[in-house]
Amino acid sequence: ASLTVAEADGDERTIEAALRPRTLDEVVGQARVRDQLGLVLEAARLRGRAPDHVLLSGPPGLGKTTLAMIIAAEMSSPLRLTSGPAITHAGDLAAILSGMNEGDVLFVDEIHRMARPAEEMLYMAMEDFRVDVVIGKGPGATAIPLDIPPFTLVGATTRAGLLPGPLRDRFGFTAHLEFYEPHELDLIIHRSAGLLGVELEGEGAAEIASRSRGTPRIANRLLRRVRDYAQVKADGVVTIEVARAALDLYEVDALGLDRLDRSVLDALCRRFGGGPVGISTLAVAVGEERETVEEVAEPFLVRNGFLARTPRGRVATPAAWQHLGLAVPAAAPL
Ligand code: ADP
Repeated sequence: ASLTVAEADGDERTIEAALRPRTLDEVVGQARVRDQLGLVLEAARLRGRAPDHVLLSGPPGLGKTTLAMIIAAEMSSPLRLTSGPAITHAGDLAAILSGMNEGDVLFVDEIHRMARPAEEMLYMAMEDFRVDVVIGKGPGATAIPLDIPPFTLVGATTRAGLLPGPLRDRFGFTAHLEFYEPHELDLIIHRSAGLLGVELEGEGAAEIASRSRGTPRIANRLLRRVRDYAQVKADGVVTIEVARAALDLYEVDALGLDRLDRSVLDALCRRFGGGPVGISTLAVAVGEERETVEEVAEPFLVRNGFLARTPRGRVATPAAWQHLGLAVPAAAPL
């Protein structure tokens, strides 16, 4: 896990791992979450106990996995990683839990997508550090109680509201990650450029930052694409001109909207007259899963004032029409 960027050598996923902040101090932005989490960890350290379970929510790429890794690192505890979709049976979870040691940190990404029986097993594990392992089926089935050493669960979800109340309530600390401000993304881009050995001008960084959808993962990815462009088409230096040309080539527009964002707005305005339209209908129109539209595209579009959620469905704002270069209809719903 402690690969340097040079060792990571080209593989995009390894590069992403190498760019992760490793301590709370290295985390850019999210000041409140950092302070609160720092306190939770410090207190746990003083008491010599595993910290309370932590729930991290927010759109993809804002740093949930990074924070989970930092929690484990700051507690000098091993981290185990799994994800909701990988836990299809209670038995999958029992196998993971029974292999845990005291103080281990278990990270469950997309925790809202875990199978229901596993979820119920998790309630008990979180609260009583115990699970009932059911052996056999039907009337002959027996439940064998199994103690698990105190551990810390770090759950990640794109929206805390997707979790059933009883699960949400068992987390002692819940943090919602917000989109990053351009000046924070600017810092992240400069830090990553330093690690990657990319020569970057201030205006070039600012251009990438302003088009990164408020998301560090996207900032780092765009930096790599812009670097490719700089190396192939220019002299390797990321200037504002290079950044603009590269981002245009990759269809990231001036406000950071990507292809999916634009196709959602495009369908909303051109096919549904600006709405209101249900999210499922909208998702079908753009040929994407409902979850992708709802959890990836929509939070950014809402936060930036292009789309509104109303009880009757999704509605395009005047800014959406304008951004697509369309005339705002006189009877626009908003
Ligand atoms: P998530 O789990 O929420 O999808 P990750 O934790 O995988 O997001 O973060 C994606 C990438 O963004 C990481 O590789 C990391 O380099 C970068 N990143 C995320 N948050 C921060 C931050 N606060 N400061 C610096 N880099 C960050």
